Amino acid sequence: MGDASLLVAFINVQIWLPTGNLWCMSEFSVALNDDQQQIKDWTHGFAEDVMRPAAAEWDEREEFPYPVVQEAAKIGLYGWEFLMNAGQDRTGLTLPVAVEELFWGDAGLGMAIMGSGLAAAGIAGNGTPEQTMEWVPQCYGDANDVKLGAFCVSEPDAGSDVSNLRTRAVYDEANGEWVLNGTKAWITNGGIADVHVVVAAVDPELKGRGQASFVIPPNTKGLSQGQKYMKHGIRASHTAEVVLDDVRVPGSCLLGGKEKLDAKLARAREAGKSGAPQPAMKTFEATRPTVGAQALGIARAAYEYSLEYAKERHAFGKPIIMNQAIAFKLANMITEIDASRLLIWRAAWLARNGGFTNAEGSMSKWKASEVAVRVTEEAIQILGGYGYTREYPVERWHRDAKIHTIFEGTSEIQQLVIARAISGLRVE
Ligand SMILES: Cc1cc2nc3c(=O)[nH]c(=O)nc-3n(C[C@H](O)[C@H](O)[C@H](O)COP(=O)(O)OP(=O)(O)OC[C@H]3O[C@@H](n4cnc5c(N)ncnc54)[C@H](O)[C@@H]3O)c2cc1C
Repeated sequence: MGDASLLVAFINVQIWLPTGNLWCMSEFSVALNDDQQQIKDWTHGFAEDVMRPAAAEWDEREEFPYPVVQEAAKIGLYGWEFLMNAGQDRTGLTLPVAVEELFWGDAGLGMAIMGSGLAAAGIAGNGTPEQTMEWVPQCYGDANDVKLGAFCVSEPDAGSDVSNLRTRAVYDEANGEWVLNGTKAWITNGGIADVHVVVAAVDPELKGRGQASFVIPPNTKGLSQGQKYMKHGIRASHTAEVVLDDVRVPGSCLLGGKEKLDAKLARAREAGKSGAPQPAMKTFEATRPTVGAQALGIARAAYEYSLEYAKERHAFGKPIIMNQAIAFKLANMITEIDASRLLIWRAAWLARNGGFTNAEGSMSKWKASEVAVRVTEEAIQILGGYGYTREYPVERWHRDAKIHTIFEGTSEIQQLVIARAISGLRVE
């Protein structure tokens, strides 16, 4: 199974829990080292050879692409060992570099490969080392038997406002079990996952400070898939409701354990505030540079494609790139893409080397996702009528880009987080 303790150390660092002196400060550099370049080439190869040729078909089918995820698992790209290896890079850049390449290949397939990572981060961020070692590998399985994880926070009435979750978790003292009831909305891998991580209210009066995270093991009675959403983009990624109807899990499925939760609740009741971040927010905060890297991959794909097209397409007797109106669009696209990458790499480095001070993770996700939407729209414009058809990939990239301004915190919420960080005030 490999060195599971390294897995714990890696994921803890990814979500910036203190880990003593295990990881020393590293230099920030925009020049990739040999290992990073190797990972970039390797993921790019998979994106080009496996993902690109399959992308249009899975977008049309709008089904979870098990064969592609299995291919990724066979070469070690889908699996917790990949996360562990990426985690050995003290600069933090390996993961965003790899993710950019995968989403350059295709965002829907990329999301299918990356989706279990949120559940893994939710487990490692809130669980004990023993829980992390038990459950994270079960979010992935192996190449012969691929498994999936899902991280379930959002609800029909609580997406941005995660402090108002209605899903309840009640402790059944007599049986030492937790009983969960509620409905989760828009969950990546929801209902088809083997391991669901569910954030629920234990004490709703305490809002976000009264919540806890639970692992729902495979085949647990009472958990079912609600509606599967038919989407605008990333259609190869499965998104569905998750219904929890008297779901009973053993006490050991409470991430972090009951003693820690009781202490947290007592502190919150006494002081009116615990000071600790909400479980879900902690996970989302740490994964934002990686989400930015997803958007960046799509933007780069659209830029490269439209640059080549603009050099080849002739109108009025010359290549369309000879018009400043087109050339300046491309100049703007590449500048915005490079600016996004710098913000993402800085945020990824800071997450591993001292932590964020001005919500740099949110800055990187906000910037890259907005850039991806604009760049893919400009790419359609450059391709003209062809760009609007499904014969060419740019319309798909535009549809795929849009989700990045919505999930893991909308663009408005990113700005709220940044505004609060720079002002120290509770800006509304
Ligand atoms: C494809 C897809 C996959 C997803 N995967 C997951 C997943 O795996 N797990 C999970 O838990 N969730 C997931 N989500 C849910 C996603 O995180 C939420 O949709 C998102 O957080 C926004 O919440 P909402 O849809 O309720 O929008 P709302 O919160 O209702 O927001 C609606 C609009 O109001 C704005 N708004 C809200 N509050 C404020 C404010 N205070 N200030 C300014 N503007 C505000 C928002 O920015 C937005 O523009 C997924 C969603 C999609 C579409």
